[in-house]
Amino acid sequence: MTESTPATTTDSGAPVESDEHSLTVGAGGPILLQDSYLIEQMAQFNRERIPERQPHAKGSGAFGHFEVTNDVSAFTKAAVFQPGTRTELVTRFSTVAGERGSPDTWRDPRGFAVKFYTSEGNYDMVGNNTPVFFVKDPMKFQHFIRSQKRRADNNLRDHDMQWDFWTLSPESAHQVTWLMGDRGIPRSWRHMNGYTSHTYMWINAQGERFWVKYHFKTDQGVEHFTQHEADQMAAADTDYHTRDLFEHIRDGEYPSWTLYVQVMPYDDAPSYRFNPFDLTKVWPHADYPLVEVGRMTLDRNPTDNHAEIEQAAFQPNNLVPGIGPSPDRMLLARLFSYADAHRYRIGANYQQLPVNAPVAKVHTYSKDGAMAYRKTTDPVYAPNSKGGPAADAERHAPPSWHADGDITRAAYVDHAEDDDWGQAGTMVREVLDDAARDRLVDNVVGHLLNDVSEPVLTRAFTYWSNIDKTIGERIAKGVRAKAGEKDPKAAQQSNPARTSMQHKA
Ligand code: NDP
Repeated sequence: MTESTPATTTDSGAPVESDEHSLTVGAGGPILLQDSYLIEQMAQFNRERIPERQPHAKGSGAFGHFEVTNDVSAFTKAAVFQPGTRTELVTRFSTVAGERGSPDTWRDPRGFAVKFYTSEGNYDMVGNNTPVFFVKDPMKFQHFIRSQKRRADNNLRDHDMQWDFWTLSPESAHQVTWLMGDRGIPRSWRHMNGYTSHTYMWINAQGERFWVKYHFKTDQGVEHFTQHEADQMAAADTDYHTRDLFEHIRDGEYPSWTLYVQVMPYDDAPSYRFNPFDLTKVWPHADYPLVEVGRMTLDRNPTDNHAEIEQAAFQPNNLVPGIGPSPDRMLLARLFSYADAHRYRIGANYQQLPVNAPVAKVHTYSKDGAMAYRKTTDPVYAPNSKGGPAADAERHAPPSWHADGDITRAAYVDHAEDDDWGQAGTMVREVLDDAARDRLVDNVVGHLLNDVSEPVLTRAFTYWSNIDKTIGERIAKGVRAKAGEKDPKAAQQSNPARTSMQHKA
């Protein structure tokens, strides 16, 4: 210990007597209850973990900033996107289905969450590295995630239940095609794009409304791992993506993404060929080209991953003037569910933690609760005549769209070209090249060979044939040929590693 080494203290700041020895009656005697430093250490240790996120448990992130590089004020009045604006932010990247210790390189979509600390309040984008999603109605979301996680009986992940859900949910076809292709395993978080996937509303200073989708394109270039490379990496370095991000930022190689938006005039929505609020569809670039907005750069690592990343609370209901939601049902449900998850996971006052606190001044009537840190001042009610905050209803109108109809439980109304297979088929036929199509077939065949039972298997072949006839035939042929090569049960017995391979999906 040198003179500059700080003395260890208790959590209340009093110096402690030893970092090594508990208080005992003689060197061989019992430990005393009065060793309150030992008790504090043990009790705090028992409470170190907060509930992990369900889903998106495994992840990491970094701090950085966003700089506007183009004038999009014709579309939004949001301060964060006005020319010349620079905004501090925090990001978190994650896998979806795995637990907190699961490998970074399992095949899975990746979360891509950004919290902008804007002058008008926090603005959060909770996106993915894919522009679409598996389901379009929040009623199915919980069931979807359960089908990707673990069985009740043996607590194992199970390809049979994954394909059972997918093949009974044809709206998943676009996202499953995406997942089984190259982008289902990014080379690193630096090498993937981020998309809002959802459609949002932008409102300009004149009150004109637009529908928008965000695309964060990686400036590092899109790169992927093959299934084989990813399996090897999962064994060699479970935390490869976490390490990669941290080390590049530590070494001054700051990753960046250029943000583009697709902008749809408000009145286009009802007659557009795809339902623009359906989360399983993209807007083809030819219909709505990308408009540059600015650049996000990550240049600072957390120093306390728990305080700054695990407790970072991203929530898509954190919207600011000039940006609103859309009729996308999944988005509307997430506006509730994310904040609710944080209240459960972190506590009622999670927004007061430094990583979540806005730089904008807070004048709220929310008060009290566990771990309240921000002081409440009188008056504690509104309206009041005592000088308390008052909402400016003239300046701030809610983002609005017309909604009318009888209360019902019904599917979205299809637009002219809406169907579950079309855009997935376009991707297979027009976006992928021959080599990427071969890898897609191999990935699906490998995935289906993991104890997927009949009739799920037959449904999976039909599912792929609906996406693309040729790909469907190749997948069916590949599975039947490989299954015939060996008795799968015998193969499993002779190769214990195969059971663990089932998890790497
Ligand atoms: P475009 O040819 O204009 O765009 C195709 C896009 O596909 C590319 O811009 C790229 O997205 C993305 N892409 C390239 N390789 C892969 C891959 N291996 N896996 C997943 N995506 C890939 O065509 P359209 O806009 O008409 O879209 C055609 C199809 O492309 C869609 O049905 C959809 O499946 C897919 N796609 C479309 C996107 C969109 O927003 N329009 C976004 C991503 C995919 P990026 O430039 O973002 O890297």
